[in-house]
Amino acid sequence: MFTAVSQAQTDSVVNRIIEIGKTDNQSMHHLDVLCNRFGGRPIGSDAYENAAEWAASKFKEWGMDVVMDEVGELPVGFNRGPWFGRLIGDNAMHLHFATPSYTSGTKGVQRGHVLVEPKTQAEFDRMKGKLNGAWVLISGENKGWPINFSEDANVLRDSLKKENEKIEIENNKIRRDNWYNRGSGEPEKELLPLVEEPALFYKEMVEAGILGIIQSSKTPIPAMYDRNNLKNMTFETLPGVPDIKLDEHQYEVIKQMAEERRYFQLEFDIRNHFKMGPVKYHNVIGIIPGTEFPDEYVVMGAHLDAFDVATGGVDDGSGVTPTMEAARLIMEAGGKPRRTIIVILFAGEEFGLLGSKHWVEENTDKLDKIANMFNRDGGPTVPTGISVTPEMKADFEKICAPLNDINPDFPFTIYEREPREKPKQAWGTDSGPFAVAGVPTMGFYTADSKGYNFSYREIWHTENDLYNKSIPEYQEHAAIVTAVVVYGLADLDHMLSREGYYVERSDKDSKKKKKRKKKK
Ligand SMILES: [Zn+2]
Repeated sequence: MFTAVSQAQTDSVVNRIIEIGKTDNQSMHHLDVLCNRFGGRPIGSDAYENAAEWAASKFKEWGMDVVMDEVGELPVGFNRGPWFGRLIGDNAMHLHFATPSYTSGTKGVQRGHVLVEPKTQAEFDRMKGKLNGAWVLISGENKGWPINFSEDANVLRDSLKKENEKIEIENNKIRRDNWYNRGSGEPEKELLPLVEEPALFYKEMVEAGILGIIQSSKTPIPAMYDRNNLKNMTFETLPGVPDIKLDEHQYEVIKQMAEERRYFQLEFDIRNHFKMGPVKYHNVIGIIPGTEFPDEYVVMGAHLDAFDVATGGVDDGSGVTPTMEAARLIMEAGGKPRRTIIVILFAGEEFGLLGSKHWVEENTDKLDKIANMFNRDGGPTVPTGISVTPEMKADFEKICAPLNDINPDFPFTIYEREPREKPKQAWGTDSGPFAVAGVPTMGFYTADSKGYNFSYREIWHTENDLYNKSIPEYQEHAAIVTAVVVYGLADLDHMLSREGYYVERSDKDSKKKKKRKKKK
């Protein structure tokens, strides 16, 4: 009797979740605020702090308990303003470029001539008088990271310069031989290649007064942050010259013009601003306390931080906002789950899973009692299924049954999961540290099932990671699916089984051996 009554209660909450999710889904509204009111939000930025306060206020407004979980602090903060650039002269054009976070802006509008960087001491000596006030084209291809200007990097550069000096001694011999042999009919000997390293004379060029360095970039342009120097930055030792990542097509044109020694200038106005530290950063945690098993948990999360070359519309706005909406749907539907639901908006995922590592370290007492950790950080695609162990299957079949009636376009399939070994190292998103700690981290399979031509590559840490890259109907459906499944797990009358979720290596080997034996 008790079970029947409570099952009816669960069903009515789930029905309300679906009803509200279909008629008043606010996933895209949350995303609008996150991306377009606050903007890109790396940790240490005002935008991150603002977004964290807002998310906390929403959780509170919806009736949840809120914890601002201090994860750490950065020695300085960074706030990005707009950026502009143009070529003045032949082929006049607006420049398409970006700079990584925690790198220098310009000193107002700065205009200068262009040089191609020196690769040997002789080349450096030849142009050293001309470096003052120049933009310097450096080699290599932008991967989103700035040039490392730390002492360690300078030591490495010095050793590469020495290698190049040796190669140049050989090359000078070859040059001389070629000169003596000219007209003899003998083919010219080829020069030995120099060791390739972008901005090899970085320190010397900065001392000579360059305006900034410019590297070629594929588009859309990726831009991350200064991971090498941030730890040791102080407000007195901020990076000094801009590190510009320029559209490869424009870079080619400009490089050719520089090599032809044409007269032209580049002008940049880059408003990269810093703030005095230390700047603390927090996970934002919303809690729906369990009514019957408050010390058992279901966790759902996504990372609140995002690079600021765009606005984190997908990475990870597409995770944060359906997660927030799932929490709101549960609260709006009057959900009072038996076990506790913990919603974590993680800080500093992009800086090395900082928030999730911190939470796992600080909550070891809870790790055994988490039914599952749901993490959404893979694009604005729609949930299509989940794979679970045979021991979990009956529970999931019951919990997921309503999912197939929400929208005929988005069927949901339960698959059976092969036992896996527990990972020893966290993979590249916030479920990683949970998995390493032995917590089940089953996630939804997702797909671009209506064919909206979504490309994760296009947005991943690039200037294209904007609000409008998200796909509203997928986002909204994801919020409903997440709410139904998280609520369902939290409201089971027993803890979800972990049986057979992970296997020890030895178990797996012995199972394989058994199989082989059977075959014989
Ligand atoms: Zn991400």
